[in-house]
Formats: sequence, C-alpha cells, structure tokens
Amino acid sequence: MNARQMRYGPLPVERVDVAVIGGGVVGAAVARALAGHELSVALVEARCDVGDGTSKANTAILHTGFDATPGTLESRLVRRGCELLAEYAGATGIPVERTGAVLVAWTDEELAALPGLAAKAVKNGYERCEIIGAEEVYRQVPALAPGALGGLTVPDESIICPWTTTLAFATEALSRGAYVLLNTRVEGVESGGDGDTVLRTGRGTLRAGWVVNAAGLGSDVIDGLFGHRRFTVTPRRGELFVFDKQARPMVNRIVLPVPSSRGKGVLVSPTIYGNVMLGPTAEDRDDRTDTSTSEHGFDFLLEKGRKLMPALLDEEVTASYAGLRAATEHGDYQVHLDAGQRYLVLGGIRSTGLTSAMALAEHTLGLLGDAGLRLDAKATLPDPPRMPNIGEAFPRPYQRADLIAEDPAYGTAVCFCERVTEGEIRDALASPIPPADVDGLRRRTRALMGRCQGFFCGAEVEKRLRAGESQ
Ligand SMILES: Cc1cc2nc3c(=O)[nH]c(=O)nc-3n(C[C@H](O)[C@H](O)[C@H](O)COP(=O)(O)OP(=O)(O)OC[C@H]3O[C@@H](n4cnc5c(N)ncnc54)[C@H](O)[C@@H]3O)c2cc1C
Repeated sequence: MNARQMRYGPLPVERVDVAVIGGGVVGAAVARALAGHELSVALVEARCDVGDGTSKANTAILHTGFDATPGTLESRLVRRGCELLAEYAGATGIPVERTGAVLVAWTDEELAALPGLAAKAVKNGYERCEIIGAEEVYRQVPALAPGALGGLTVPDESIICPWTTTLAFATEALSRGAYVLLNTRVEGVESGGDGDTVLRTGRGTLRAGWVVNAAGLGSDVIDGLFGHRRFTVTPRRGELFVFDKQARPMVNRIVLPVPSSRGKGVLVSPTIYGNVMLGPTAEDRDDRTDTSTSEHGFDFLLEKGRKLMPALLDEEVTASYAGLRAATEHGDYQVHLDAGQRYLVLGGIRSTGLTSAMALAEHTLGLLGDAGLRLDAKATLPDPPRMPNIGEAFPRPYQRADLIAEDPAYGTAVCFCERVTEGEIRDALASPIPPADVDGLRRRTRALMGRCQGFFCGAEVEKRLRAGESQ
C-alpha cells in the first residue's frame, strides 16, 4: 500500500484476520507483533498519523516498574516491556538514555516511606534501588533545592523518544505486510454472521476475524460497541513545561517525588532531545480531546519547580504541552478477552503504556493464541527498520562528516535551533509512513521544536512539507 492509500480513498482491503483499533504505541506494538505471523493484519487509526494521541504527549520515561503495585498486570508488563523496549531500541536506533533516577524525600514522612518503596521495588522484580542520604542526593543533583532529607536511587530508569518508538512499531508492522489505515475512525461494530466482525469506519467497512481494541481514551467506547460496560475512561490531564537546552547540565538524571495515590507526581527530567522537563500535573477532565494547557496548571508547576529546583526557573521555558492519561475507576490495566466474540480490549493503559507496549503485544499474542487464533510465525521477516536518530546523545546527521560527504543535504540546516537538515526532512517525507502535517514532521525530525518554535524556519519547513505531499 502507498502513503495515499494509508490515509485517503476507499479502504485498500475488505477483510483481515485481525484488526487492531488504535494506532498509538500500544496498537502499533500489537500490530507489529501480529504481523510477524501468517495473518493479515490492519492497524486502524482515526487520526491522520500513528502516535498522534496520548502516545505523543507523555513524560517519555522507560520505567523499570519499581513503584508499580506488586501483583498487578501493570507491574508484570511494565517490567517485561522495559526489557523488551530497551532491546528493541538498540536494534532499531530508537534514542534511549539510561540516566537513572533519584527519588527524593522532602519530609520525615517521605523519608520513612523509602524502605517500603525499596521493598516494593524488590516485589516488582527490581532489585537495584538503594537508599541514600541527603549528602549523596546533593552530590547526584547539586541544583536541587535545600531541604532534601534523603533519597532512593533507581539506576535503570531511562529516557526514551516516544515518537520514534510508535513510528518504529508501525513501520515494522507495515514492512511485515500489515495495512496501516490512518484517517479511519471506527464508528460502528456489527456481527458479520460468520464469526467475523464488521467494523464500520469513515472510509467504508472492514471485516475482521478478530479485533483488538487499543483505542486509548476511546477504548471504553469501542468496548461499549461490543456490548460491554466494564470500565469508564476519565481523561487525566498532565501538563508539562519544557525548558531550554541551557538547563540540561543542571539535570543529568530523573528527579522523582515520592509517589502518592494520585500517581507518580511532578518530576524533573532530562529529555532525549537535550532539554529538561517539569511535570506532569494530574487533573481529571471530562473532555477526551482537550489537550490544552491552563493557567492553574502553569501556576502549579511553577510552584512545584520553585520548591524542587529554583535555579531551573531562571531558565527559559521553550514549550508547554499536555497529555491525557486513559485513567479508569480500576487500579490496573483493563485487559479482557471475549473468545466468543473474538475480541480483546487493552484499556486503561494510564501512565505506563509507552514502557509496557511490547509486553502488552506479547501478552496479546498469548491470549489470542489460547483463544484459538492460529499463530504461525512467518518463516522470514524483513530486518527491523533503522530509525533516524533524533536524540541528542547520539551523532545527528549534521555532526557526521561521512554522511555529509556522501550527501551534502545532511550538511544544510533548515531548522537552526534543533539543527535539522534538508536531508532529514527529505528522508522523513519519503519514509514508509510519511508525516501528514507539520506536527508529524516535527515528531520525525525535531524541526520546529527548538527555542524559536518555528518562528524562523516555520515557513520553509511548511513549504518542504507541501512540496513533498504533491510528489
Ligand atoms: C502526562 C503523561 C505522562 C506519561 N508518562 C509516561 C512515561 O513516562 N512512561 C510511560 O511508559 N508512559 C507514560 N504515559 C502513558 C503513555 O503515554 C500511555 O500509556 C500510552 O501512550 C497509551 O498508548 P495507547 O496506544 O494505549 O493510547 P493512544 O496513544 O491514545 O492511542 C490510541 C489511539 O486510538 C485512536 N482511536 C481512538 N478511538 C478510535 C476509533 N474509534 N477508531 C480508530 N482509532 C481510534 C486514537 O486516535 C489514538 O491514536 C504518560 C501519559 C501521560 C498523559
């Protein structure tokens, strides 16, 4: 299938063995895993791009799962997903940095909670946490505000590029023969009468032998279309600040708060793109589409930032954004299989889905296989895709004399703040899943995400995108 068929016109396929609804990080990982078998697979996504929902706006931490609730499905899958994704990142070039984290106790109560957190980490299968005194906390994070009483180290917490991750999964699903159907919203579900399900979409109908619901914030709605009322998604908004690259030397590891019942709390973290982020907030909302930021969110983050690391607030804020966690009334992932309906829902993947996506995919194969889906591994598979590096810790094209000597387009900057070159933009536009808009191009190259936020290069980047589209 070509890039046009992905997004426009009638669907290029009438029936597949498995349809995966939702092209976020979870659905893309599941489609990739299924497409490694002798099955026809479709990844069905309402938006014009993969990874354009919650998967594009998170804190981008590859969690060890040290603080999960022991015994939950989430705990098991985060732990396993962390291993799988770290390995996959190595194979595909997804930028990842094992910065480690330090969880900081600011009160006597928090200090007293550290041994319990260390024991919990062990119960979650993670044994490398260590309790440290205040002196060591300040040695590790000198810019921290005064008043820290002690901490807990988590040496394997890592930062990762969430955009490249989803794109790599979807690109590999495509290269393994899956249909990637974008701009294709599932609007209705009917029984096909022969065991198949008929999905009514904005681009026509698609029959599927099996359906996996990975629709994120819409997973309860799709579950309802299958006749279930098992959980309700309440979007939990998380707002974040991104600080300029000047702040990066101040933060060389993730600084975590002691978690509460409301979630993981506000952290300070380096980003894979060389910035620093502060956030996220946690606020339940009604609107599943509202990813706007708010004045009260900003005030809250400023207050938190001032308490945590006052020097950080002297640095410029380059951007702010918000993401919506698919929180439910339950404390664990909502994974339910209906063998009779040949239907599986992967819902309530709240704060850890980037980390657990590959493990959720593995779990999906197990559940569907047990329920009767025949899973014969393909005898040969294409090599995993080699993703363009947009991480700051690894050589970027503008730094590589060998690449520039071969192709001067990698030596010609278009976005000066982020040093994105003509060659990278050209490659993104010609890639198997090209961007649909400037935001998609930004997620593939970093163009426009620097301190000028596109003020200088925006028109040029847009021009190149339009020229790419018309080819
Ligand atoms: C503020 C914040 C911080 C986070 N930090 C981290 C972190 O540090 N580490 C971590 O591991 N996780 C983190 N997460 C969680 C992680 O981002 C999510 O768990 C993950 O992105 C969920 O992926 P998904 O594929 O389930 O959902 P999504 O990315 O939302 O994908 C679901 C897709 O389904 C599509 N869809 C919905 N309805 C339909 C329909 N009817 N038809 C077709 N398509 C449909 C949507 O358009 C969407 O693209 C964070 C989340 C937030 C909000």
